[in-house]
Formats: sequence, C-alpha cells, structure tokens
Amino acid sequence: MDKESKRTVNCPGCQKPVAWSKDNRFRPFCSERCQLIDFGEWATEKHSIAGESFYPTEDEDPEQLQ
Ligand SMILES: [Zn+2]
Repeated sequence: MDKESKRTVNCPGCQKPVAWSKDNRFRPFCSERCQLIDFGEWATEKHSIAGESFYPTEDEDPEQLQ
C-alpha cells in the first residue's frame, strides 16, 4: 500500500477530508474558497482585538478628563 499518496487531512474550513498532495496548493484546505474564508475570519478577529485596544472606551474618554 502506498500510504504517502493516500494521506488525507480535514479541511479547517469545512472539515471535509482533503487529499494531502503536492498538487493541492490550498492544503490543508480543500479549496481556495475555504482558505480565504479561514484567513478572513482570522483577519477580522485580529482587527477587532486591535480596534478594541486602540480606541478609548466611553469611560476613558480623554476629552472628558481634561
Ligand atoms: Zn473546505
């Protein structure tokens, strides 16, 4: 049995089994769509966290304190 060519992984996007091969340039994703969705969610999450720490809350409004 040739296990190397039969190796599969679960797509992080849709959990489908994906053949892990050199031909699959989107691995471990099944397709470009799942790759972009996963990256989009990661970027959105990172952006929201950065925005939360960057913008002052109403309780810490610098103009109100001065
Ligand atoms: Zn997928």
